This record gives sequence, C-alpha cells and structure tokens, in this order.
Amino acid sequence: MANKENRNGNTPLSAAEITEMKRGLNRLARNLWWTWNQSAQEVFAELSPRAWQNLYHNAVAVLHEVSDAELQARLQNPELAAKVRAALEAFDAYLNEKQTWAAEHAPALQRNPVAYFSAEFGFHETLPIAAGGLGILAGDHTKSASDLGLGFVGITLFYREGYFQQEINSDNWQVDYYTQLNPRNLPMEPVLDARGERVVCEVEIGMSQVFFYAWRVNVGRCTVYLLDSNHPENEQLYRDLTLRVYGGDSTTRIMQEVLLGVGGVRLLRALGLQPSVFHLNEGHAAFLALELIREKRAQGKTFEAALAATRAECIFTTHTPVEAGHDRFTPDLMHYALHKLATRLKVPLPELLALGRVNPADQTEPFCMTVLALKASRAANAVSELHGQVSRQMWNCLFPGLPAEQVPIGHVTNGIHLLGWMKGPARQFWTKKNGGNFEGVANTPEFWQRLADPAFCSDEELWAFRYQLKRELIEFARRRLLLQGQRVTKGDYITFDHLLNPDALTIGFARRFATYKRAPLIFDHFSDIVALAKDKGRPIQFIFAGKAHPRDDEGKRYIQKIIHLSKFSELQSHMVFIENYDMHVARQMVSGCDIWLNNPRRPLEASGTSGMKAGPNGCLNLSILDGWWREGYDGTNGFAIGDDSHPDNIEEQDRRDAENLYRVLTEEVIPCFFERDERGIPRRWIQIIRRAMITLNPQYNTSRMVQEYARRFYLAR
Ligand SMILES: *Cc1c(COP(=O)(O)O)cnc(C)c1O
Repeated sequence: MANKENRNGNTPLSAAEITEMKRGLNRLARNLWWTWNQSAQEVFAELSPRAWQNLYHNAVAVLHEVSDAELQARLQNPELAAKVRAALEAFDAYLNEKQTWAAEHAPALQRNPVAYFSAEFGFHETLPIAAGGLGILAGDHTKSASDLGLGFVGITLFYREGYFQQEINSDNWQVDYYTQLNPRNLPMEPVLDARGERVVCEVEIGMSQVFFYAWRVNVGRCTVYLLDSNHPENEQLYRDLTLRVYGGDSTTRIMQEVLLGVGGVRLLRALGLQPSVFHLNEGHAAFLALELIREKRAQGKTFEAALAATRAECIFTTHTPVEAGHDRFTPDLMHYALHKLATRLKVPLPELLALGRVNPADQTEPFCMTVLALKASRAANAVSELHGQVSRQMWNCLFPGLPAEQVPIGHVTNGIHLLGWMKGPARQFWTKKNGGNFEGVANTPEFWQRLADPAFCSDEELWAFRYQLKRELIEFARRRLLLQGQRVTKGDYITFDHLLNPDALTIGFARRFATYKRAPLIFDHFSDIVALAKDKGRPIQFIFAGKAHPRDDEGKRYIQKIIHLSKFSELQSHMVFIENYDMHVARQMVSGCDIWLNNPRRPLEASGTSGMKAGPNGCLNLSILDGWWREGYDGTNGFAIGDDSHPDNIEEQDRRDAENLYRVLTEEVIPCFFERDERGIPRRWIQIIRRAMITLNPQYNTSRMVQEYARRFYLAR
C-alpha cells in the first residue's frame, strides 16, 4: 500500500493512498471487528474525541462527522496515518487469515455454514437490539465464531426502535422510551441483489403476505442478517412488527417469531445459502422448523419424513427454567397467525399444533415454542450443568417412561467474548505483560497460568491495575449521575465529586431486574449494611444498574427501592444507581468493581454471564452457587453464598440466602479485602484474583464454548 518513505513520514501521501485509506476506514467502521480491537477504536476516538464520546463510540457516525477535507488533511499527519495503516493491516490480516481453528477442525462448515437464529443479538452499545443476557451471548457467540473462522451466519430482526431506554422519574419509577435507530449511522447495509436492488422476501402471516427487507451486519468474518418488515406495501400492523425488541402483546410476538423463523430461512434461500445446521438460540426461533418442513413437503416428502429430515438439521439451546421465558400461544392465536402457512405446509392445523404440545391429544393445550424446538431438533442443550439437570426434569413430560437423567438434553456452559469485555487499559495491561501479542493468547490456559508466577506479574502491578480500573469506574459513575440529574445530596449541597470512594470495597450489581435475581436481597440486613458502609476504616459501597421489563412492575419496584435508598437513606453517597444499563455500562462496571454480586433464586439463573466478564479485569465474584458459578467456583477463586443446595420453600430460601450473603461478606470478603501489609497491599485478595484469572478466564469464554458447539453439535450427526 505505501512505500518506505511514507512509512517514515518523510513525503506526503499521494491522493491514491489517501483515497485507499479513506475507503479502508469506511470498511473498518462497517465491520464490528473494531469493537473488539483496541487500536481500531483508538483511530476513531482520535479522529474526533468529542464525537466518539457523544455519539457513544459509534465509528460510522464519527466518520460522518469528519468531513472529506478534514480527513484528507489529517491523514497527512504521519502518526495518525501510521495508526490508521496499522489498524487496517491488522483488519485485513484478520479477514484473510487462512489458518484458523475451523480450517483445521470444521472445514465442512465453510460451504454449508451454521445458521444461528436468535430474536436478539448484543454486539455493541450503538446497536441496541438485545434485551439482556441471551442477546449478549448471541453477540459473543458470533464474535468467537468469527475469531475461529467458523462458517456461520446469524439471523435476527432489525428493530428500528431497538430495546427501550431507561429513565428514572421523580418518583424513582422507571420510564421507558424509545429512539429511532438510523441505519445510515450504524454498521449495517441493505442486502441487495445482483442488479443493486433491495432483496425483498415474503412470508405468510395471518391472512396476509408480508414483505420484508434484510440488512447485513459484518461481524469480523461472519455475517448477521437483520430482517425488516417496514416495507411500504405492508399494512402498518406488519410494518411495525419489527419496531421493538419483544414489543407488543402475544399477537405481535407470534408474528415476530413467524417472521424470524420462516422469514429467516426464506432469506437464506434467497441468498443461495444451504446451511448444514440450524441453531435455534432459544425457542423464539423454532418456527424455522415449519419452513424446513414446508420445503421438504414441496419436494414430495410425507409429513413424517419431512419432520425427520428437519430434525436432522436442527439443534436447540434452551436458556431459562423461568416459565415466562417459554412462549406459549393459544390455539386461537396459532390459528390466526399460522392458518395460511399451514395450508402451504400441506399439514392439517391440528397436526401442526401437536408439534407444540406435550399432550398432542389435548385440544386446549397452548402451543409451546420450546416443545416445538425440542421435537424438531436432533440435539438440545442447556447452558450449565445444573440447568441441564433442571431442564431434563422440566421436559421429562415429553419423554414418558424415560428417567429424568436420560432425557436427551445435555449442556454447554456459556462463555463471554473475553476481548470484547475488556476496556482499553485492561487490553494494554495484558498486551504489555505478554510482550506485544495478547489477542492470540487471550483464551488460552497457558497465558493465564503465568499469573501463578509473581515474577510475571507482581502483586504491586496488579494492585495498581485494579486501582486504575476502579478510579475510571468511579469517575464514570460520577459523570453519569450528574447527567442523570438524580439529586444526590450530602448535607445541603450536591456533591457529585464526592460520590463514591476509590478506597472503599466496591460491590457491583447490574443485570435485568427480573425478580428472581433479587436485586435488593442484600438490604434485608439493612442496618447492618449501613454500619458496614459507614465503617471509616473498612468502608463498602454499592453500584447498581439494570432495566426491568416494561411490563414488570415488581421489577420496577425493586429499582425504586434501590434508588430511594441511594438518595434518602443513610447509604446516601455510598450507593448509586446508574440509569440505562447497556453494554457500555456493563463494561465499566465489571472492570472497576472489586466484587461482582449475584444472588439469584437458585436454580433459576440458567448460567449468568456477567460474572464471567469480571474475570480478566480482576473483579471477584460473590455469588450463589447457581448457573456457571456452581462450576466455576473452586474454593480459591472467589466467594460463594451458601452451598450446592437450596430449600424448596421460597421464603426460607430468601431468608437463608440473605443471611449467608451477609455472613460471607462480613466474615470473608471484607476482612480479606482490608487485610494489608506494610506496603498497603492486600496479598491474600490478590492471590484470589490470580486464582480467578488462572481458573476462570480460559474456561468461561465463547472461544471454548463455540468449539464445544462445533465438535458436539454442529459437526456431529
Ligand atoms: C452480560 C450482560 C447481561 C447478562 O447478565 P447476567 O448477569 O448474566 O444476567 C445483561 N445485560 C447486559 C447489558 C450485559 O452486558
């Protein structure tokens, strides 16, 4: 691309080189690879630091902000040009890498990829089309599929108003509002045909033909397609199907799911794709099986043969034991939404309804998407070992006569995309530790094992690293609180600059405010917690964040309670609630907190992933032994609340868990954190951080997880 002199910055860049770089930057901004590449992010941040901040780290929007003339001029700055060049070279090297894991282990999936269907994907804070952990997992799955070079396409919907934004009103009540997403300012592009026209597909919903477009999102080497029913020839009702993530009532929901499942397969065919396996990420996507059956019926297969052939192509991951997480539709609604489609399937509706029923003979039983997914897949899995046990019991009814242990639902424990969950300073820290390349080793046991050796990384270095991350979090929280305008008063003046104390043990809790996650549990021992917070020698403090589902008033009451405490109780200034939890807030919190608190009502947290994000940042888990932590905790690498059991009685469970939480906090966590040597270093605490990094990081990542899916499900028949 450039010659030697240019690299040294001695001669001006030619017009052709500038054009090439500008083109490169536009390509880079439109591939989400930059969201997990530090040097690429730095380029966009440097182009306009203020736009980078104000536009919420949106690379496409930053490029729109910087004019052609400015870009042209600034690229004549040799340092900036060198950074751009390095980022583009790394990007191209990534895209063109031939020796990937999949090239060796899964070459068959290159031509016939995995098609991964999910109602939500969380890639980045600027594309808010995820509601929570399920979507974040789908996003991380895709990023690792790309890193591994796996043949992989994703399917979801383009919700043009995304997931709701959260604001807290003067009654401390969550108010939901929506903003329109602008595709022009997002890393997405319309899917076009050979003539440059938008590809339009159709799907039967209700009594109508519904048209839809598609958008392409590039995630490294992988592509995710977003279906969009906002087509001028559709009735408004259908145009608004893709308005909001899980928006509307069950009628909207079933129609969204027809679009996702059936429409998704139609789009793949329109693009000439023949996936070798369809991965149903949660039951929302299960209608895709109906389209696969339709295709086979059209080729003349009997219904039974079509179903059997469909089963051979599908695998299913179930994500929650919570009842509300399993869509159920009444026979009337099914009739309304699927009547026309059923005709095309050449399957009588009763037979179709039977596919979603535990007892096919029961005409009143609602149609359950999880049941359909289980009946239409050759393999199914839960997302942690305990969740596997729970799911086998839950769905034993579908396998009468089989003991629960033999119900064919296995488990693949979730992970996170490690690089994507590390802030700049963390990436820099580990890159420097490893003498340059960190990307290549971030998921390996060998790298993290080196933490056992203080000569590789001293306690002092780790402690400085921890303080740096915590300082950044506290300043982030102060800034956000100021913007939120929550009047946090101390005496009679507002002091955002004195909010939170960098020396205090900082406990973070952020996730969806689903009631089973019991956000306010720790305040069951309120006066004791106040005493702990106010202990001048060993203070503790809390940072909360999270959204309640728009229709979940109980969850909103939890938020209200927590904000009320933060403003008006004795915990004032020791506790804050950060509004509008999203991936950016999550990244700040899992980096800067000392303790990541997780106290769900066991066994309802199928896996949980936010605690895994704490790992590479040196934040420690304090958690109920549910989901992933039941597997991850080994007695040396964090803190457990309670043991590997739970009472059946919920009141008893809540009481016992609150008590255990308080006990572990006061007897283990606080003494350990404040036990300092003559140099002020908490040696024992840092030893636990080392153990957490060694044992958790190489295991609870999506690189390991996607390899497991590939070996056990995508490739195996
Ligand atoms: C990681 C993450 C979640 C999932 O958190 P859990 O503790 O597993 O429920 C939800 N929302 C956001 C924004 C996240 O980053």
